[in-house]
Amino acid sequence: MVEIIDHDVLVLGTGIAGLRAAIEILRKGEGKVSVAAISKVPLMRSHSVGAEGGTAAMLYPEEGDSFELHAWDTVKGSDFLADQDVVFDFVKSMPYEIRLLDHWGMPWSRRPDGRLAQRPFGGHSFNRATFAADKTGFFEMRTLYDKLLEYDNWERFDEYFITSLIIEDGEFKGFMGINQKNGEFVVFRGKAGIIATGGTSQMFKFGTTAVGVTGDGVSIAYRAGIPAKDMEFLQFHPTGLMPSGILLTEGARGEGGYLINKDGERFMKKYAPERMELAPRDVVSRAMMREIMEGRGVEHWSGLKHVYIDLRHLGEERIKERLHLIRELVMKFVGVDPITDPVPVRPTAHYTMGGIHTGSNYQAMFDEKTYVRGLWAAGEVACASLHGANRLGTNSTAECLYSGAKTGMQALEYVLKVKEKKTTSTPSVSGHVEKEQKRIFEEILGRESGEDPYAIKKELREMMDTHFYVFRNGDQMAEGLKKIKELKERYKKVKTTDRHKEYNYNWLHIIELGFLLDVAEILATGAYTRTESRGSHYRFDFPKRDDKKWLKHTLAYYTPEGPKLSYMPVTILAWKPRERKY
Ligand SMILES: Cc1cc2nc3c(=O)[nH]c(=O)nc-3n(C[C@H](O)[C@H](O)[C@H](O)COP(=O)(O)OP(=O)(O)OC[C@H]3O[C@@H](n4cnc5c(N)ncnc54)[C@H](O)[C@@H]3O)c2cc1C
Repeated sequence: MVEIIDHDVLVLGTGIAGLRAAIEILRKGEGKVSVAAISKVPLMRSHSVGAEGGTAAMLYPEEGDSFELHAWDTVKGSDFLADQDVVFDFVKSMPYEIRLLDHWGMPWSRRPDGRLAQRPFGGHSFNRATFAADKTGFFEMRTLYDKLLEYDNWERFDEYFITSLIIEDGEFKGFMGINQKNGEFVVFRGKAGIIATGGTSQMFKFGTTAVGVTGDGVSIAYRAGIPAKDMEFLQFHPTGLMPSGILLTEGARGEGGYLINKDGERFMKKYAPERMELAPRDVVSRAMMREIMEGRGVEHWSGLKHVYIDLRHLGEERIKERLHLIRELVMKFVGVDPITDPVPVRPTAHYTMGGIHTGSNYQAMFDEKTYVRGLWAAGEVACASLHGANRLGTNSTAECLYSGAKTGMQALEYVLKVKEKKTTSTPSVSGHVEKEQKRIFEEILGRESGEDPYAIKKELREMMDTHFYVFRNGDQMAEGLKKIKELKERYKKVKTTDRHKEYNYNWLHIIELGFLLDVAEILATGAYTRTESRGSHYRFDFPKRDDKKWLKHTLAYYTPEGPKLSYMPVTILAWKPRERKY
């Protein structure tokens, strides 16, 4: 059976980016355009609910902040790989987005005078992290969802797992996948699509993200001929809790937390004497790993080494008020109370700077010049090149709001035009359906003997943790790439042990593993080829940034043999690259 569902705009992903996009279409569309909001997990379990520390915006020019300063911090933080046109447009849009959420009921934390509070964050030279205690993402999601409920012309498709994308003659036609409740094949047909499927960092084991953050959107687009951009830049957040990798928000350093080594020394003074613990994440993560490598780390029973974050001097009242969730997490997952004990941490895989190649307007592109008609990407999955080689904390939820609003508006305008001119045809889905059904039902669900997918996943993630972590080198990466190719071969023979169609997570995990192998191979190929160090990509064998050769974006195209790379220029407007010191 094939379930066919028609809507004007298909929003794939219901995190902050997807919800913001849907709202923009509905509030400006005056009931003329319908929206499907599709998610493989229940809407409110989208990964965005886990965002903790804040959302960046320039709110107080009278106190010294400015658009230029926010833009400069972002560009410097990106190690000059950000496209500066995107950065300027982004910073100018953010104050409006924050106030819009305020009007929609967002319970932002406030100053004693009632104005919105903002806290410091790494790499920002002004306190511009707007926050709701340490549960910012949760409250943003609630606020957006509440707003969405005001509109009628949308439908919610929770627990629909999308496996591929339909494009015909360069035009978006829809998505295909599985209705998880009954295991039946489903085709969503739409005039426009917005992919907002989040990040890829589950390809690492020691990481901050939910189990479903498996790079689906990047892989689906890549297989449909849309390149992945700058995927070698994967962010390691400095403070992952030992031994799980669960995030301890940068808000904790924003509130004044110290990083200390085994001797109790605040070591950041050696690496970033001005910004100290509030240097950007790539700088802090490298400093922590250097301390560990040079013997000033602490052995953990898990075998991993770590340093500490120390919050004790903040005092009980402040920790309970501002870092309530963090205290709870530390007590549950580490077994110590940050009010009385330092907390063991080490860098943890966190955020995907790269993603689906889009133009500065977040419309998907086949190459440097050609847009995919009717398709946009928003949020973490998109790479319009806002973050370059290293994202600043709080610029992600901000990008979700900004790119959600931007793509929603464009999709709406596009659909209204298409409807007026009747320029688009209903897709002939049958050819696509047969091919995709064969792949996921016969080749994956149908295979009863072969490789164990969980063993492949474990090997992949353990290898990524060692070969593509904070410090990289050529030989190790070559070995890692070889391993990925071997795992890809083994994946072709992977078996499903559960034969049911209803809620068959064994089957879905295997499909996700295919996505993970794709994004890992793209990351590894881009990282091995980029013979320089920039932002989160640091190589011992090429420790310097090389602007002459490498001030360019990587585009990775799908071929059956593996990614084929090409490069495109970075948009430089106000600031030429210079030495990056903090
Ligand atoms: C613990 C943690 C704390 C963070 N804190 C902050 C912070 O304080 N400030 C900040 O700026 N950033 C923060 N970040 C980063 C930020 O939260 C994320 O980058 C952002 O929320 C991503 O939102 P999104 O809308 O792009 O995607 P997500 O919220 O990840 O949503 C993805 C959606 O896509 C759907 N989906 C994915 N694949 C499929 C598929 N195959 N079929 C159907 N649906 C699919 C999912 O179900 C989900 O609905 C944090 C990240 C983590 C991990």
